[in-house]
Amino acid sequence: MKGFAMLGIGKIGWIDKEKPIAGPLDAIVRPIAISPCTSDIHTVWAGAIGERKDMILGHESVGEIVEVGSMVRFFKPGDKVMVPAITPDWGSLEAQDGFPQHSGGMLGGWKFSNYKDGVMAEFFHVNDADSNLAPLPEGISPEEAVMLSDMVPTGFHGAELAGVTPGDRVVVIGIGPVGLMAVAGANLMGAGYLYAIGSRPVCQEAAKFYGATDIINYKEGDIVEQVLSRTKGKGVDRVIIAGGDVDTFGQAVKMLKPGGSIGNVNYLGEGEFVKIPRLEWGVGMGHKRINAGLTPGGRLKLQRLATLLETGKLDTSRLITHRFEGLEACEKVHFMMKDKPVDMIKPVVTIKY
Ligand code: NDP
Ligand code: ZN
Repeated sequence: MKGFAMLGIGKIGWIDKEKPIAGPLDAIVRPIAISPCTSDIHTVWAGAIGERKDMILGHESVGEIVEVGSMVRFFKPGDKVMVPAITPDWGSLEAQDGFPQHSGGMLGGWKFSNYKDGVMAEFFHVNDADSNLAPLPEGISPEEAVMLSDMVPTGFHGAELAGVTPGDRVVVIGIGPVGLMAVAGANLMGAGYLYAIGSRPVCQEAAKFYGATDIINYKEGDIVEQVLSRTKGKGVDRVIIAGGDVDTFGQAVKMLKPGGSIGNVNYLGEGEFVKIPRLEWGVGMGHKRINAGLTPGGRLKLQRLATLLETGKLDTSRLITHRFEGLEACEKVHFMMKDKPVDMIKPVVTIKY
């Protein structure tokens, strides 16, 4: 089978591989919708997780099952399924401890385009199929549903990690597709004032659509000052980080009230240390909490988030700005993700059989 792969750090291309084989608990799926992720850009071009050789890219997909293992109970060939980016081993001790995303070790639940071949291929392998896949609901298109693989769960996890409660003043740093879903998540969780930070007009408009009350452009002045000036110098209750770099943490701490909390889902692609400003962190006693994590993955989360689409409470189609057909378009969308054209939020590739 052919797949679009990372050949090594800074090298990509099409490769041929053997079709994967399903173990007793697994499924083999062929993609019907795929979207590229900014994480693959950090992985390939910044070498953020280290060297990877001939690893097929992609972890956002909706597909059709072509084969299931002997112990798979809920799915059969022909079923259309949503596939989460994070596919933990649900029998692991880490999963039993409440952290399925770290099953088998740090970030071990993130398998596609990290520890194993991803979804930008004619076929891909899904471990623990019963616990990780979810049926594609009636009336939801594969394009809308593919946003549930990673963008919705990751953005919403940012809001969960920050601990948004009704009436909170919330900042979302970064309003690419992940940050936009953090805005939507915080809004659904009851945020009051919701400040969205980003520079591109297409993302600013989408942020307003998803519930932002204020837009802040980080290219038009220091974001800490811009947030403090809007809050009479007091700062905000929650900050969700979905963009920026290692220095963004310091800014997030500075714009937070004592007792406030940060939820980070940003993938720090470069830099050795994350620095916390000592004074604004209350010289170590400010009760400013920092939570940072990978979304948990799995079937239940996916099904719950899908109900937001079914009930019309979340419209993921607003994220999709570019549409392509055919597996070969994976190469084009990878470069779009790398270059970030000003009018792009998220491209989607659909594949017809
Ligand atoms: P984008 O690159 O599309 O968005 C990044 C956003 O951050 C943009 O709005 C950008 O502004 C803004 N930004 C960039 N620099 C700064 C800065 N210095 N200060 C403030 N804002 C800034 O990324 P995605 O939305 O696709 O992904 C966001 C992050 O989440 C990535 O690091 C990605 O790898 C990570 N991620 C993490 C996952 C997880 O499970 N934890 C899963 C998926 C993604 P603009 O473009 O408007 O100028
Ligand atoms: Zn991703």
